[in-house]
Amino acid sequence: MSTLLDENTTHTLREGAFGHARALACRECGHEVALGPSYACPECFGPLEVGYDFPTVTREEIAAGPANIWRYKALLPVPSDIEQSPNTEPGFTRLLEARNLARELGIEKLWVKDDSTNPTNSFKDRVVACALSAARELDAKVFACPSTGNLANAVAAAGARAGMKTVVFIPSNLEQPKQVNSAVYTDRLVAVDGNYDDVNKLASEIAGEEEGWAFVNVNVRPFYAEGSKTLGYEIAEQLGWRLPDQVVIPVASGSQLTKVDKAFRELVALGLVEDKPYRIFGAQATGCSPVSVAYKAGTDAIRPVKPDTIAKSLAIGNPADGIYVLDVCRRSGGAVEDITDDEVRDAIVLLARTEGIFTETAGGTTVGVLKKLVETGQLDTSLETVVINTGHGLKTLDAVSDRVGAAATIAPSYDAFVAAGIV
Ligand SMILES: *Cc1c(COP(=O)(O)O)cnc(C)c1O
Ligand SMILES: [Zn+2]
Repeated sequence: MSTLLDENTTHTLREGAFGHARALACRECGHEVALGPSYACPECFGPLEVGYDFPTVTREEIAAGPANIWRYKALLPVPSDIEQSPNTEPGFTRLLEARNLARELGIEKLWVKDDSTNPTNSFKDRVVACALSAARELDAKVFACPSTGNLANAVAAAGARAGMKTVVFIPSNLEQPKQVNSAVYTDRLVAVDGNYDDVNKLASEIAGEEEGWAFVNVNVRPFYAEGSKTLGYEIAEQLGWRLPDQVVIPVASGSQLTKVDKAFRELVALGLVEDKPYRIFGAQATGCSPVSVAYKAGTDAIRPVKPDTIAKSLAIGNPADGIYVLDVCRRSGGAVEDITDDEVRDAIVLLARTEGIFTETAGGTTVGVLKKLVETGQLDTSLETVVINTGHGLKTLDAVSDRVGAAATIAPSYDAFVAAGIV
């Protein structure tokens, strides 16, 4: 059967277009539909997720693969020749032991998974690489996304490398560096007067009206979302094929957090790591914390909010995967917590000064929440903990430009230096 993005062509899916993926399965009722540009269950409108018939995969096979996400291609909805198609080759970023930050916070063993070093400096390159593969296999004519910033950067860059027509939509009040980081790759950056939820609605409307468009996080969202699993695979492999005890992850739509959990469960099921309990924690900024609010209220009902926070990359007021985040965090014995914008700024500086890692506001949110989880006794400081840094501080300079700067401005003389008394 052919599954088309454009009903006017006769494009037929090639054999193995989605690797070992079997079907799209509804997360609510389990109903399965054929692999294609679908994202809502025809039976109950629940979200669709990629289901697989995995082959046997060994640690050795994975280790022999490239130093990017394609080392896990057997576990992703991509063809076995994925490396042949131009893409940004994201992933296999550093897992750094954070001894200074651990000492500062009173945690025994702490790691930072540093995704700020991806090709466009955020974890979004992972999900976009998987979406790009799906767009290609479905013969999409346009590669597109609604974005809070980082996704637009990643889509614009990947589209350029793939030679595809690319259109990215952002809220018009987005940080200037994130606008430039998209516009440099594409002539088709569209700034929309509205917040992310407005931009997202517009994208769904265009996806319904126009033919041949692959919106990475709308009509090919099930394939896009699988890219986040590679964060979980890498953490386990880099720990020497072990699961950590606790992971702290930022929450925007909530997709990443739920996929790290999915990755850990798959590794256990495939016999690649030993089964053990692990706790997953979600991090939000108070100015956009619908999931944290629901967690603390002990309810499953997530009430959408109008975002008001400097953590713009996390500013999704109506998070599609929020309810699944609650499930993962509650089931695993974790929690969802939020912090103020001032705490976000403090945490950006804290991470920079303890570990030499400059994170954006999303990472400030995650590190600040880690600190709050310790202070409130929600995180066990004797257990091995991983915090995910999802983006780069150069994209949100304004967040800390008032807090840091020259210690002194002096004349170019030794006397002036000594007089300034800075050492
Ligand atoms: C998009 C984004 C997130 C959150 O991703 P979701 O999967 O939507 O929860 C976290 N950090 C950064 C820097 C992002 O750009
Ligand atoms: Zn369903």
